[in-house]
Amino acid sequence: MAVTTVYGVLGSPIAHSLSPVMHNAAFAALGLDASYIAFDVDKQRAGTAIQGARALGFGGLNITFPLKEVALRHCTPDTLSKRIGAVNTIDDTGAGYNTDGVGAVRALEEAGVTVKDASILLLGAGGAAKAIAAQLLLSGASVLVANRTVSRSLILTQQMTAENIDCGCGAIEAHSLGEIGDLLREARVLINATTVGMDGVLGGQTLVTAAQMHPGLVVFDVVYHPLETPLLREARAAGLQTIDGAKMLVHQGAASFVLWTALEPPVQVMEEAVRKALGSAHRAGDHGGQ
Ligand code: NAP
Repeated sequence: MAVTTVYGVLGSPIAHSLSPVMHNAAFAALGLDASYIAFDVDKQRAGTAIQGARALGFGGLNITFPLKEVALRHCTPDTLSKRIGAVNTIDDTGAGYNTDGVGAVRALEEAGVTVKDASILLLGAGGAAKAIAAQLLLSGASVLVANRTVSRSLILTQQMTAENIDCGCGAIEAHSLGEIGDLLREARVLINATTVGMDGVLGGQTLVTAAQMHPGLVVFDVVYHPLETPLLREARAAGLQTIDGAKMLVHQGAASFVLWTALEPPVQVMEEAVRKALGSAHRAGDHGGQ
C-alpha cells in the first residue's frame, strides 16, 4: 500500500477536471500526505477501475461524466444517491454518495437563502437538476421544475414523489419552459441547471431575461464555463443577488472531502484554487468537468 494516500476522479474526458487542483490545494493546506489524480476511464472499465482503486487502498474517489449512473452498480449507494440514480463520491469502504445537491444547497445557504419553505424555480431535468431537486426536497423547499422536454420534468417529479423517494419534507411540481414567466413571480430563487449559457454549447443564450426577474429574486447558475454566464449578467443588470457555478463545485467537493477524511475542509482555499484554475482555463478556452 502506498504511503501517500491517493484519491482520484474517474470520467472521460477528464483532462480539464478541476477536482485535482481543488483537492490537492486542500491536502496541502492541511499538511496531509495525500495526492489527488484524474483518471480517464470509460463506461466499460468503470467497474474494474473502482475495484482496482479499492484494492490499492485509495482514500476515495469522485465519479464524473459519463460514469455517475454506471458507478451506482459498483459501490454500495446510500439512500440519496439511489434516489438520484447517480453517485459522484465513493469512500474507501466502497460506500457511494451524491454530493452535487448538497453542494447546491450549501451555496444557497452561504448566500443567505433559507431553503426551508422557499419556492425555488429549477430549470432543467438532467443529472444536475435531479441531484439538486432531491436535496432541495430534503431541505424542505417547494420546487418548481421547468424543462424544455416536459416529459423529462414529469419523470423527475414522479421519481422524487414515488414511494421510496418522498421524504415528506418539500413539494415538487413539473412545468414547461413556457410557464417560466408565471412561475418566476412566486419564486424566491431561480436555479439554472440546464446547459444553456455554457461556453461553446449554447453561448450567449438565456432562458430568462432581466425583464422577467423581480426584486429580491436570487439567481443561481450551476454552469461554471464561463463563470459569468449570460443569465448571471442579466440578473446583475437587474440589480439582483447572484450565485455562480464555482460555489456548487466547491461545496460538493468539500462534502466529498469530509466523507473521505472526516476533517473540516478548507473551503476558502478550495474556492481560491478553483477560481484561479477557472480563470486561466477560460483564458485558454478549456472546458472542464467536476
Ligand atoms: P444533462 O444531464 O445533459 O442535462 C441537460 C439539461 O439541459 C436538460 O434539462 C436539457 O433539457 C437542458 N437543455 C439543453 N439544451 C437546451 C436548450 N437549448 N434549451 C433548453 N434546455 C436545454 O446535463 P447535466 O449533467 O445536468 O449538467 C447541466 C449543467 O450543469 C452543465 O453545464 C454542467 O457543467 C453543470 N454542472 C455543474 C455542477 C457544479 O458543481 N457547478 C455540477 C454538475 C453539473 P432536455 O431534457 O429538454 O434535453
